[in-house]
Amino acid sequence: MSVPAPGPRPHRLGEMTTVEAAEAVTTAPVVLIPAGAFEQHGPGMPLATDLIRAEHVCDLVAAELNGRAVIGPPLPVGVSPHHRAFAGTVSLTPATLAALTREYVTGLHQHGWRRILVVTGHAGNNATLGTVAQDLLATLPELEFAWTPLTALAADVVAGLGVSEVHGHGGEAETAQLLHLAPHLVRADLLTAGTTGLGQLDPLARLSRHGGHPTLAVPYDRLSPNGVLGDPRRVTADDGEAVVSAIVSRVAAFVTEWLAT
Ligand SMILES: [Zn+2]
Repeated sequence: MSVPAPGPRPHRLGEMTTVEAAEAVTTAPVVLIPAGAFEQHGPGMPLATDLIRAEHVCDLVAAELNGRAVIGPPLPVGVSPHHRAFAGTVSLTPATLAALTREYVTGLHQHGWRRILVVTGHAGNNATLGTVAQDLLATLPELEFAWTPLTALAADVVAGLGVSEVHGHGGEAETAQLLHLAPHLVRADLLTAGTTGLGQLDPLARLSRHGGHPTLAVPYDRLSPNGVLGDPRRVTADDGEAVVSAIVSRVAAFVTEWLAT
């Protein structure tokens, strides 16, 4: 699987004319909305890591769907208050992200689209997207709204990479994806391990990482001094290709089945 070259991409709504958009409502009945975050990803990766991954995945899914999906306006900033201690992080409140998502959806709905899938590179957006989905069931009952995170779709592939006991943000899975999709944006010489084991965490932070009990929110500066969970130096672009390819084929398979309903 290759990464799309720069230049006009026929499936991006923002690169179409209004005449082409009017045709796309019929020929491409699914709109993919890439959602990201503007937040620290450790010393070696850019603030827009989550949006960059989401946009590339949407490009690849749309290419696999042969014109049956278009990519709508991106949501470049997400819900990231847990990263606020780190420079450059800009966050929306959940209410603002919910309002933006609803207003994008309403606009697309007005022009005739009835199936919308938000692809979020940032797990901090998940709770808000779930809330929006519930709202839309009541406010636009004829709309079919779906959303998905990225890395969680390929959890089996990520587990096969031999990840650290503690891994996640800015760690093995995200770094591998960016090394594959946008290697020029990874400062390979600056990639640094963050928290890799539960034993490195203080008791409150450790409690927040255990499964099987209530969710406890803690800020990232409490989880990792450099903002990274895992060791981003352990992965390669080939690892990233394996993760991205699993995500793309699973999202594309979902959309294909959706279109058949
Ligand atoms: Zn991220």
